[in-house]
Amino acid sequence: MEGARQAGLPNCLAFEADASCLDSILHSEKMAFRRVVKGTVLLGGGALTAVFGIAQLADYRKKQVTLGCLAAAEPWRQHIQYELPSREAQLLTLQNTKEFDILIIGGGATGCGCALDAVSRGLKTALVEREDFSSGTSSRSTKLIHGGVRYLQKAIMNLDVEQYRLVKEALQERANLLEIAPHLSSPLPIMLPVYKWWQMPYYWIGIKAYDLVAGSQCLKNSYVLSKSKALELFPMLKKDQLVGAIVYYDGQHNDARMNLAIALTAARYGAATANYTEVLHLLKKTDPESGKVHVCGARCKDVLTEQEFDVKAKCVINATGPSTDSVRRMDNQEVENICQPSAGVHIVMPGYYSPDNMGLLDPATSDGRVIFFLPWEKMTIAGTTDTPTEVTHHPIPREEDINFILTEVRNYLSTDVAVRRGDVQAAWSGIRPLVIDPNSKDTQSIARNHVVHVSESGLVTIAGGKWTTYRSMAEEAVDAAIKAHNFKAGSSRTIGLVLEGGNDWTPTLYIRLAQDYGLEIEVAKHLASAYGDKALEVAKIAKVTGKRWPIVGRRLVSEFPYIEAEVRYAIKEYACTAIDVISRRTRLAFLNVQAAEEALPRIVEIMGKELQWSEQKKMEEMEAAKQFLYYEMGYKARSEQLTDQSEISLSTSDMDRYKKRFHKFDKEKKGFITVVDVQRVLESIGVQMDANTLHEILTEVDVNKNGQVELNEFLQLMSAVQKGYVSSSRLAAIMKTAEENLDQRNPIPVDRSGGGV
Ligand SMILES: Cc1cc2nc3c(=O)[nH]c(=O)nc-3n(C[C@H](O)[C@H](O)[C@H](O)COP(=O)(O)OP(=O)(O)OC[C@H]3O[C@@H](n4cnc5c(N)ncnc54)[C@H](O)[C@@H]3O)c2cc1C
Repeated sequence: MEGARQAGLPNCLAFEADASCLDSILHSEKMAFRRVVKGTVLLGGGALTAVFGIAQLADYRKKQVTLGCLAAAEPWRQHIQYELPSREAQLLTLQNTKEFDILIIGGGATGCGCALDAVSRGLKTALVEREDFSSGTSSRSTKLIHGGVRYLQKAIMNLDVEQYRLVKEALQERANLLEIAPHLSSPLPIMLPVYKWWQMPYYWIGIKAYDLVAGSQCLKNSYVLSKSKALELFPMLKKDQLVGAIVYYDGQHNDARMNLAIALTAARYGAATANYTEVLHLLKKTDPESGKVHVCGARCKDVLTEQEFDVKAKCVINATGPSTDSVRRMDNQEVENICQPSAGVHIVMPGYYSPDNMGLLDPATSDGRVIFFLPWEKMTIAGTTDTPTEVTHHPIPREEDINFILTEVRNYLSTDVAVRRGDVQAAWSGIRPLVIDPNSKDTQSIARNHVVHVSESGLVTIAGGKWTTYRSMAEEAVDAAIKAHNFKAGSSRTIGLVLEGGNDWTPTLYIRLAQDYGLEIEVAKHLASAYGDKALEVAKIAKVTGKRWPIVGRRLVSEFPYIEAEVRYAIKEYACTAIDVISRRTRLAFLNVQAAEEALPRIVEIMGKELQWSEQKKMEEMEAAKQFLYYEMGYKARSEQLTDQSEISLSTSDMDRYKKRFHKFDKEKKGFITVVDVQRVLESIGVQMDANTLHEILTEVDVNKNGQVELNEFLQLMSAVQKGYVSSSRLAAIMKTAEENLDQRNPIPVDRSGGGV
């Protein structure tokens, strides 16, 4: 635990900033505010200290227990397998093992957490996931490792002890997660802008309470900022009526890679884990003595080969997130649904929408929801919404949700910043598995917390909760399994159990990568944070660029630090499809759908070579990945911006200007332009561009996909660019530059033309 505190040391500088910024507020003429703050500090602070002093004491005791667990976990490190078994080897183990102790269904955060918990207690463990690890909700979160400030607010307002306990537990888990995967997670300051004077003490108490509940595991102390300091740190913030801000700390992570790290760690500890392995139905047997029917395994299908087989296990854990009820019904057709799915949409915008290291929380949007606006992987994530939905493994972000988020973002960003639909680089929807406790009498109460339930036939279901608490949920589920099935196993060992890549990671690892392998600094930083100490293995298989610098590491696309070697390494990490690579090994699909599409041909080529794919298989992979980007990652919504804005609203002069520009390319006045036309104009002004790139550029605009860009499509594009529906278009930029260059060229004097008389 100590390391987590060190990662985000309670910083006396922050405290000083706190005091000095508070000073600047106090020195303003707002004397009324001064009295309120002083009163609040004395009264509120005193009360809080008394109430939460007990929490600190409990904290201390918990820490002693934790340290004990850490020591217990230590010998287990010796059991780690150095080589990850291949997926094929894992499938053979699943099929040939006479009987596992525990079979887990679902390879999200919760399921993988259960696998690691069970295997590290010495139980013979198996896990099957019907698609890829983290392909469900666990890769589609807000990426926060948090206790939940708003849940604490509810706990305080409603004097809800249970809610308070959950926040407290989540804050402890937050510290543990930062400790066990330091490469994949870090503390993130989050600003709460304050627009009304009276809100300042109100929010301040709430946020200070959050620090106090975290106790010794507080990442860094929260602090108050004056208006000018807030704007200095977050210059895009709306200035009007801004009073000041409060900054608090939570954790942030790369959710899909964190999920994978848990799965890989479980596999290294000896769990038989296989992705693309679906449970079709549960196996049952009758106990000859008691006559009771027990779940004793599952009929599984290797989704890639269609081969079916049985996996036998004494206990089955259902950790299938939004699909919880479908697996519960495999056990008993009669059971009531406990899961109420709710969809949350996020959008990704360019990094310049937020400062590099400061998030923003809007605690009360126009319809009362909370919106986060966070820097992530050098981009900005904004979300989320909360809408009842059907269960689907492939949720699609709706245009109305995207627009709702954009409207909210506009509300708190300065009017100088044009928030444009066209700046949405990717969007996704995730399904929250909100659960009703089947043990509870009150079936109306939906809890955001989790439920562990053991059915009559011994099926253990773990559902709900949040990413942050996956470990403690897993511990509880495995405890329930041990109790229900009388396993001989000790208590959980996962507190302090370092995840894949975390053992030898140091904050300066990237320097070694750059020095020893000749990787670009940006690439080295990315590899160190995504793979931890395993980045060295990725660097080892990186190909020489042939350039003076970087020596190795060919990028997949120029503006992102993902390199080709990661595709080869992804296969070792159980990536089976191109979608796995663009969305969960790298995060390209979540950051920029167009860049992901651009990287696809090379990814498919590399995977094809490594996995001996036929030409047919490569085409299928390309198509599946394009469909995924189109529907699930917001490409559809993005391209519909072009098709749907069919009415072209351009002024007459703009219309004439763009028509003229178009005809400079369409010399023969065919009414459309092709790759050849664009190539001809570019060559005439001395610009070289390869045919593939040109084809891609034209495809972006070619709405009806007939291989030509018609005048109408071009005018639609220009209209959409003007309205901000489309942020940028390479074709529009090329045509503008070409036109300017053509106009600037001096006419060649006739006497130098060679053809004069
Ligand atoms: C929009 C949104 C934002 C969120 N943000 C945060 C956040 O910032 N911080 C936080 O702490 N929490 C957050 N959460 C909550 C968190 O993401 C979820 O609680 C968590 O990811 C759920 O994990 P899971 O493993 O239970 O479910 P999932 O990740 O959905 O995993 C379930 C898996 O089961 C598999 N499966 C289903 N049926 C079968 C079958 N028959 N055979 C084999 N496998 C099967 C599925 O393929 C799936 O991969 C957020 C949730 C949402 C929706």
